[in-house]
Amino acid sequence: MTERTFSIIKPDATRRNLTGKVNAVIEDAGLRIVAQRRIRMTEAQAKKFYEVHAARPFYGELVEFMMSAPVVVQVLEGDNAVARYREVMGATNPADAAPGTIRALYAESVGENSVHGSDSTDNAKLEIAQFFTEADIVG
Ligand code: UDP
Ligand code: MG
Repeated sequence: MTERTFSIIKPDATRRNLTGKVNAVIEDAGLRIVAQRRIRMTEAQAKKFYEVHAARPFYGELVEFMMSAPVVVQVLEGDNAVARYREVMGATNPADAAPGTIRALYAESVGENSVHGSDSTDNAKLEIAQFFTEADIVG
């Protein structure tokens, strides 16, 4: 089923000029980038986005990291896009990520791991709505 997921190319990747290389992996996997914007996350945006992790010990560092350089927020569309993109990203910790995945190729650590992808269709809708309106998305 065609669906949408939300993606972020994180600061460690934009800092190393890897936006195009990450996008190539996404597109080679059959996902379409139907909206994309380069932004600098505000503290309020980063805190809200990762609110679910607020009680975790890495939350403060994660929020600081997300504000440390530009990010590229994206909407990806394709067959089973949520699960498909989780496969394409690879495991959270690059040491556990399968060969060829974005995190195996590019992530620097469990924290600075190059990309975000929604973990459910419900969260995809909420995350997309935090950064895009329907008019921004051109399928
Ligand atoms: N994270 C971290 N330390 C950890 C686990 C996660 O810094 O031990 C960061 C990392 O950037 C990760 C994000 O928090 O991508 C969200 O964690 P989650 O478990 O949701 O991983 P994801 O869904 O991104 O694979
Ligand atoms: Mg997650």
